[in-house]
Order: sequence, then C-alpha cells, then structure tokens
Amino acid sequence: MVLVYTHEAFRGHVTPPGHPERVERLAAVERGLAGLQVERRACPLGDEAEVLRCHPAGYLARVKAAVPSEGWAQLDGDTFLSPGSFEAAMRAVGGIRAAVDAVVSGEARTAFVAGRPPGHHAERETAMGFCLFGTVAIGAKRALDHHGLKRVAVVDFDVHHGNGTQDLLWDEGRCLFASTHQMPLYPGTGRPEERGAQGQVLNVPLREGSGGRAMREAYERLVFPALEAWEPELLLISAGFDAHADDPLAGLEWQPEDYAWLTERLCDFAGGRVVSSLEGGYDLDALAASVAAHVGVLEERGR
Ligand SMILES: [Zn+2]
Repeated sequence: MVLVYTHEAFRGHVTPPGHPERVERLAAVERGLAGLQVERRACPLGDEAEVLRCHPAGYLARVKAAVPSEGWAQLDGDTFLSPGSFEAAMRAVGGIRAAVDAVVSGEARTAFVAGRPPGHHAERETAMGFCLFGTVAIGAKRALDHHGLKRVAVVDFDVHHGNGTQDLLWDEGRCLFASTHQMPLYPGTGRPEERGAQGQVLNVPLREGSGGRAMREAYERLVFPALEAWEPELLLISAGFDAHADDPLAGLEWQPEDYAWLTERLCDFAGGRVVSSLEGGYDLDALAASVAAHVGVLEERGR
C-alpha cells in the first residue's frame, strides 16, 4: 500500500498550447497508477505558513498577485500562471505536508504526491522552469521544524538540476540534498563543486546519451554512500521522469526498469520512510510507464 495524494485542482493549472508541462500529464500519471494498490487522498489546501518555511512573504504575495483572471500571466520564459494556478500550487504544498505528516507519524511507510506545477526549480524569490514553490524543500522543512526530525535527505532524480531545492536548502545543515542530472542542460547549475553551506549538497552530473548503467554506477559510487553516512530519518524524492529515453526535453536513456531499481534501492534508507513528489516527465507514455515502475515499488515497500 502506498498513499497517493492527488486533486482535481491540478487540472486547473493550464499552460499555453504546446507547453510541455501540460494538464494531460495527469492522465498519464493516472494510467501509470492503474492496477496498483494505492490509497488515494485528496491534497488539502496548503497554508501560506508552509510556503513561508522556504520563500519570503513578498515572493508569495507577488505570485498570488500575478495570477490572471483569464488567459495567462508569464513569470519567466517558460513559467506561466492561469486562473487556477495558485490553488494548484497550494494543493501541491498541502499534499507534501499531508504526505510528510502521514509517513513521519507512521500511518504509512511510503507516499507519492501526484501534483503540478512541479517545484524543484523555484528559488527563494524566483519562479522558473515551470515551478512556483519549492514543494519538496517545503516538505523537508516540515519534517525538520514541525516534527523535529534531526536528519532528512532529498534525492532529486529529475533529469534537470534541482537548483531551487538546492537554493532553499543551501544553509540547511540538517538536510542532505543529492541531485543527479544531465549536464550541460537547463538550468545550468549542479556542478560537483556546489556543495552547500555545510557540505551537505551532492551534485552528480550525468553525460548526455548515458543510460541506466551510468546512472546505477553513479548512485552506487556517490549517492548511496552519502545517504548511508547521513542516516536520514526520512527520505524525500523529487521524482522527475524526464531522464527517460523518450523524453523530448533531455538526452538521457533511462528505462522504466531503471526507475524501479533506483526506487527499490532508495527505499533501503530512512527505515523505508519515503515521500516522493512528481516533478518533470514530458513524454506521456514514458511518464505513465515510469510512474508505474516507481510507484509500483513504493507500493510493495509500503506494505
Ligand atoms: Zn526536469
């Protein structure tokens, strides 16, 4: 059993025609979940205090004020707001809070938040890369500051560097942030030299064209030893599925079985307490198959 947090409001975040981060992704995620034993929960509306764990009040107010009453507002080259975007983003924040609360309290061992917009590119005061609020970083802060955990970890396997999560957790000495990503690629950050204020950031670039074998080698050599040494009490995953071979936005060659392998191994940390949250993944069939593989393992390990 795995808890899956969703909400109809995620369909209300509408991007302009041709935009890769589109409403149809949700139906692909649903196809991936079909046949799995999931316990569905509606994402509660997040409250603003949760957002303020990571973003200044002025930024929150700016995003809220930018929401259009019709059509679109544009926050950067590829980040758009539609009338339903603020509620969707706040449901994603509420979903991660509920998922963290459920897993930390022992009500469930694993949870997946199937929300959008994604979050890992949102920096403290900058919306970018389709992202408004740093959902996963907010979840990590919730675990630390509200539940009093002493050590948590975030693993970001989206094909793009989680520059926002890195920015939000740069000074957070209680949280290991580990990201694997294609480099060079948007957003351009994520060099191994970027280590965080207390050496608790681990960036592992992967070469364009590399596949599951290179990914597994990188995790075995760098990420798993770091997690083992860190001994997190909770593991959060920024689960982007755009490293899949068929993804149109990037050039890695991962397959669904690679996501299954990686998820299985990640569930060996933090006593198996894992909260995962959807980030990228833009080929709909690849997204469905990858979600099935990832959440399938969370389901098995959640029993
Ligand atoms: Zn991505």
